[in-house]
Amino acid sequence: MSAIILRNLVKRYEADMAVHDINLNVEAGEFVVLLGPSGCGKTTTLRMVAGLEDVSEGEIYIGGELANDLAPKDRGIAMVFQNYALYPHMTVRQNMEFALRPLRLDRAEVNRRITETAEILGLDEYLARRPSQLSGGQRQRVAMGRAMVRTPEVFLFDEPLSNLDAKLRTKVRWEIGYLHRRLGMTTLYVTHDQTEAMTLADKIVIMRQGRIEQVGTPEEVFVRPRNTFVATFIGTPAMNLVPAVSADANLHAKDFSLPMPQKFRNHVPEGLEVLIGIRPSNINLADSGPANVFAASVRGIEYLGTDALLDLRVGSEELVAEIPAILRPEVDAQIHVSFDMQSLQLFDAKTGQSLESI
Ligand code: ATP
Repeated sequence: MSAIILRNLVKRYEADMAVHDINLNVEAGEFVVLLGPSGCGKTTTLRMVAGLEDVSEGEIYIGGELANDLAPKDRGIAMVFQNYALYPHMTVRQNMEFALRPLRLDRAEVNRRITETAEILGLDEYLARRPSQLSGGQRQRVAMGRAMVRTPEVFLFDEPLSNLDAKLRTKVRWEIGYLHRRLGMTTLYVTHDQTEAMTLADKIVIMRQGRIEQVGTPEEVFVRPRNTFVATFIGTPAMNLVPAVSADANLHAKDFSLPMPQKFRNHVPEGLEVLIGIRPSNINLADSGPANVFAASVRGIEYLGTDALLDLRVGSEELVAEIPAILRPEVDAQIHVSFDMQSLQLFDAKTGQSLESI
């Protein structure tokens, strides 16, 4: 399997920069997800790797070879799109055969590859069917099969699940993860769906406005987001951010104060304006009385089955809490909450950068 290396990659469309100076290593066999909001440059980056867009500046190496000027067919890649565009008049077998035509293989090798791929993807029974006779998930698997028969070194996926309904999306997501664990293909995968990123990726690349905001494992970007953009982009519902000022080893928000968590004590200066990051799942119901317990009013409740979301006011702060549904109070109830102090994040209010590792 080939590694992919992007060095100072830039894409300009006339005056507009779609991708700014991207540096990224995708190790051989790694599953890397490009994640970010619409228009952040994910697809443009993927298309440059595929050879479908010219590179304005910088280098792309695939398997150690400079690929900037290689034709897409010479890059050892296969791409699976959102719109899988199978040929409707061809059977599953013929769709796969068509993908192999440029390779001019002998008949026995063509049959061997199709049989093997169909077996891996669970498509053996469907080889004689046309796409119209398949479910959405089966069609997406044929699209993957069509890419896989060419035994590429690198797989590129562009939002491959976004045309599927929610149930199927989960199923095909499991299948992609299973295939990757089994075959270990180097994979670069574009999505704006954080669940796909969190569940599939070895490494997530979070992008905004053509730049990389953070690269890390799913756990790193969730537990140690580098800035408020990543902190609020990863995690549903989004992390609460409460403005506060550090003073006397405390964090003073407008209507309540918390002790400065130990890990920030030695380096966060007095008087610094900060944002306290509190994940909804780190707000707990509490008994009144002990220190660091705050009165809250319940403005709204969303029942989600296992959990419930509470729309809370603590003083004038609006906070979203996620608690076990079985414990949920009534709307308008006056309750008490505490915060899981170990999990609090702190950000510099001016720059948005995490204060964790200074
Ligand atoms: P989405 O999730 O909506 O597909 P994305 O992150 O994949 O978004 P890109 O499609 O890579 O974003 O687009 C990045 C930026 O480049 C956007 O601002 C887009 O408008 C711009 N862009 C993309 N293609 C072109 C083009 N052919 N000409 C001019 N600008 C373009």
